[in-house]
Amino acid sequence: MNASMKGHRSMKKVVVAGAGGFIGGHLTRALHETGYTVRAVDIKPLTKWYQIIPGVENFVLDLKKKEDCYKALNGYEEVFNLAADMGGMGFIETHKADCMLSVLINTHLLMAARELGIRRYFYASSACVYNGEKQTDPNNPGLKESDAYPALAEDGYGWEKLFSERMCRHFREDFGLVTRVARFHNVYGPLGTYDGGREKAPAAICRKVIEGELFGNKDIVIWGDGNQTRSFMFIDDCVKGILDIMDSNIDEPINLGSAEMVSINQLVDYVEEIAGVKLNRIYDLRAPKGVRGRNSDNTFILKSLGWEPSIPLKVGLLKTYAWIKSEILDQRGKDPRKVVFNEL
Ligand code: NAD
Repeated sequence: MNASMKGHRSMKKVVVAGAGGFIGGHLTRALHETGYTVRAVDIKPLTKWYQIIPGVENFVLDLKKKEDCYKALNGYEEVFNLAADMGGMGFIETHKADCMLSVLINTHLLMAARELGIRRYFYASSACVYNGEKQTDPNNPGLKESDAYPALAEDGYGWEKLFSERMCRHFREDFGLVTRVARFHNVYGPLGTYDGGREKAPAAICRKVIEGELFGNKDIVIWGDGNQTRSFMFIDDCVKGILDIMDSNIDEPINLGSAEMVSINQLVDYVEEIAGVKLNRIYDLRAPKGVRGRNSDNTFILKSLGWEPSIPLKVGLLKTYAWIKSEILDQRGKDPRKVVFNEL
């Protein structure tokens, strides 16, 4: 944890919704280490949470249900909503209704927050809100916050995020609930999903290269032609950004993402370099691939916070690769039959 995280909100009572997940787990740890009283909430059984932090109160609740949102927020002051039914492209392109049902989580949390007098409310939005027509060029100069309109969001997941952003805005304007909205651009790091179908590109590619390094697989399947571009933000930058945005006076949705854009082929190059292997690339042109080019324009965050996510991709990938590799080795040690690699 860096100096700016420490001591800036000590003694507050905060709820993290989606705390059993990847970003929620890291955020819960940072908040707890800073000295807040944290209540961690997720729908998953505790055995499936990525992080269980001693000293944190854990609730297993379904936040789609209104009554569960009241239970989650009762007696607390601030809310970080990171709960959503989501995953990488492979998940969101095939589970559009499930993704859209996350609207119930944000709606019921906002209603409970208003009624229970919550002071501040953070909502985790996504770069998937951006207009698809502004993401057709792999040399994307970076999406500015205004590029979400005219609206043509990612079908399903992106529309839900855009609608929920506006719910936050109207609860702020009409009911005086202080809301903060960050549009995350691909977040990666240890203690997150790396298999099972919900994993995102960095974790999926690490896992596939590990298969090459450990088990001698010669080929790697890449979704699309590999020339599509993205930027990837390491989890430590994401957590710092969430905390700073929550404490800021930024009322409008703001990008929280890295501006280090790479192609998927470059991402594979980096991971191969870490592993010391070179694999034969097979391009699956029928697989879900998302938009052609996406990057974060960080003008607004730099102007507002004097900071932008800047942990280099190669640095973050080293840590992510090491964690996924240790997980796979650990799993294999316990029960070799459990090591199931998905076709991707
Ligand atoms: P994650 O899937 O690891 O975490 C989400 C958590 O929400 C899960 O643990 C899940 O069990 C929980 N959840 C789902 N439905 C719930 C319900 N009804 N009640 C309570 N909990 C429920 O995902 P993540 O990567 O940690 O993402 C966190 C947030 O950030 C999400 O809102 C996501 O849409 C957003 N986001 C993430 C990324 C990324 O790259 N990871 C990018 C853009 C936006």
